[in-house]
Amino acid sequence: MISSTAKRIAENLGRVRATIAEACSRAGRDPLDVQLVCVTKYARPEWIDGLLECGESVLGESRPQQLEQRAAEFPDHVQWHLLGQLQRNKVRRTLAAASLVHSVDSLRLLERIETIAIDEGRRPAVLLQINSSDDAGRNGFTPQTLRAAWPRVCELTRTDVRGLMTMAPPSEDPLVTRAAFDSIRELAVDLRAIPVEEGAVALQELSMGMSNDYEIAVEAGATIVRLGRTLYEGLDG
Ligand SMILES: *Cc1c(COP(=O)(O)O)cnc(C)c1O
Repeated sequence: MISSTAKRIAENLGRVRATIAEACSRAGRDPLDVQLVCVTKYARPEWIDGLLECGESVLGESRPQQLEQRAAEFPDHVQWHLLGQLQRNKVRRTLAAASLVHSVDSLRLLERIETIAIDEGRRPAVLLQINSSDDAGRNGFTPQTLRAAWPRVCELTRTDVRGLMTMAPPSEDPLVTRAAFDSIRELAVDLRAIPVEEGAVALQELSMGMSNDYEIAVEAGATIVRLGRTLYEGLDG
């Protein structure tokens, strides 16, 4: 028996998948190359049950503490992604609970992750967060600071740096959003082309696109979209 919450979420997921498929077809991409992370930071526990009933298993939280709590409460097969800021003193616990950290926003944090990974015999998967809005209040590497840090990033071979993550600058203009996503894709292409001494960093993932702009992100090459609000439309928050 499927709950009415799960039914509504299934409808929302259907709409989202259709939108992703259409964006892929416009861009000549395969929809299987776009992974959906269901963001649960504002979701009630029964909504999360609904997502799991619908077969979703990759969930995203923005706070390390809530991720840890929910990882303990929900079934083990769920993969938890951390989307929000990670303090250095929470790295150890977070690596134990999260399968992918999208929000590595400084070389200092990456170095800390590497140290803990060596210490605990882990191989954590991370994305580097890029501030694509020139907004000093936002976290993340700028393209310039990441280029400068790149040789060092490539030396940290214990951490699996899978790609880049960004949030588009707030804008009503789809062209501004598209330009921000395009510039992240181009940054990844440029970084991949830099010859490095040690283990090449593949940087294959681009985590970009939220409820309000995922269509544009998919057209621009996103391989991971992070959706919250749009999955819960029609449910009482
Ligand atoms: C909350 C959040 C999302 C999801 O946002 P929605 O607008 O609810 O789709 C995606 N990415 C990050 C980093 C977030 O904090």
